[in-house]
Amino acid sequence: MNARSESALRQGFVGCHDCDLVVRADTLPAHQARCPRCDAVLHARKPHSIARAWALLLAAAIMYIPANILPMTFTYALGSVQADTIMSGVIYFIHSGSWEIAAVIFIASIFVPLAKLAILVFLLVSVQLRLRWRPRDRTVLYRITELVGRWSMVDVYVVTILVALVKLGGVASIEAGPAAVFFAVVVVLTMLAAESFDPRIIWDVIEEDS
Ligand SMILES: [Zn+2]
Repeated sequence: MNARSESALRQGFVGCHDCDLVVRADTLPAHQARCPRCDAVLHARKPHSIARAWALLLAAAIMYIPANILPMTFTYALGSVQADTIMSGVIYFIHSGSWEIAAVIFIASIFVPLAKLAILVFLLVSVQLRLRWRPRDRTVLYRITELVGRWSMVDVYVVTILVALVKLGGVASIEAGPAAVFFAVVVVLTMLAAESFDPRIIWDVIEEDS
C-alpha cells in the first residue's frame, strides 16, 4: 500500500454517510460530530457495525428454523389439505417432473438465504480475527451479498408464483402458510445485517500494518 492509496480516515477525513460530504475530522467538535452540510451524525465507520450485524444475523438464523420447519403452503384438493414445507415442496415438484420449478424454489428459498448468512458470518469472523487474508476477495464477497440483497424479495415472491402456478393448473387451491412470514423476516434481517456491516473495516487492519 502506498501513500496515494491511504484511507480518508488516516488522513484525518470523515465522509458523511448521508450526503457524502468529506469533512476534516479535526475541525469538528469531539463529542457529537455533525455534517456541516446536511446535519447527519458523522462517524468514520458505521458505529458498532460488527455487534449490530451479529445480532441481526443471529436473529435471521433463528427465524430460518421456523421458516423451514413450518408449512409454507397449504394445498386444498379433493376435500383434503396438504401442508408443505419449503423442502417438501421442492421434493413434490421433483417427483411431479417439474424439476425447473423445484430448482427455482431450492435456489431462491434455501440456497441463496443460506449462502448470504454464511458469507456474512465468514466476513464478520474474518474481521474479528483481524485476518489479512485476501481483503480484495472479501470485499467482492460483500459486494455479492449486497447485489443479491437487492433481489432478496424475489425469494418471498417465489411462494406467490407457486400459488399462481397451482391455480393455473386448476386442480387445487393453495394458501401461504405461517413459514412465509418467518421467511420474509429472514430476508429482511439478512438485508439489514449486510447493510450494518462496514466493508472498510476489512481494510483497516491492513492499513494499520503499513
Ligand atoms: Zn451530510
